[in-house]
Amino acid sequence: TDFNALGLAEPLLRALADEGYTTPTPIQAQAIPLVLQGRDLLGIAQTGTGKTAAFALPLLHHLAARRAQAPRGGCRALILSPTRELASQIHDNIRAYGRHMGLSSTVVFGGVGARPQIQALARGVDILVATPGRLLDHVQAGVARLQTVEVLVLDEADQMLDRGFWPAIRRLTGMMSKNRQTLFFSATMPAEIAKIANELLQDPAKVSV
Ligand code: AMP
Repeated sequence: TDFNALGLAEPLLRALADEGYTTPTPIQAQAIPLVLQGRDLLGIAQTGTGKTAAFALPLLHHLAARRAQAPRGGCRALILSPTRELASQIHDNIRAYGRHMGLSSTVVFGGVGARPQIQALARGVDILVATPGRLLDHVQAGVARLQTVEVLVLDEADQMLDRGFWPAIRRLTGMMSKNRQTLFFSATMPAEIAKIANELLQDPAKVSV
């Protein structure tokens, strides 16, 4: 398979060519068609397998296929990540893969000033990448609203659980529409993670690499 066979929009194929990617990795080949169908996804994959593009590419495709105004104070796609480093990397990848699409994005995490984040959130963004604690702060301050989230990604769910983010994540997901699509990635699947996945996902397709 190459990327052209997966059904991705042309601006994404151009961005992948810019990146020098020719062949999807196994998680990308398995996950992308399922996510494009609108399925929830449970992915068991480590860093280095190409899992970021496995969720980012169909997410960008979805947003471009259903053009809508970025909601003021809200977002259309939300990616939750355990650390600021990972959140920044994901945001960099989103910007690279989406560079021909004209979508807006921002990243928020703790340990830095809130004011620039508040300004970016107030305008509204198509794609928000966030660590759970800082995002919950913004939501509780009335700066961010999550009712318009169409696609939710939880990346490195096991790491987020280890860092004690599960209560914050549950508060955040409780504010979102049940009609959203949810993509859940974890490197490991102990019982506690499986239980959380079961709570958040509806009839998920399962992919493991
Ligand atoms: P990840 O597992 O998402 O952290 O990705 C690992 C690395 O593989 C990143 O540096 C990506 O830029 C790169 N990568 C992801 N997908 C592909 C692909 N299909 N072909 C070549 N490199 C890729």
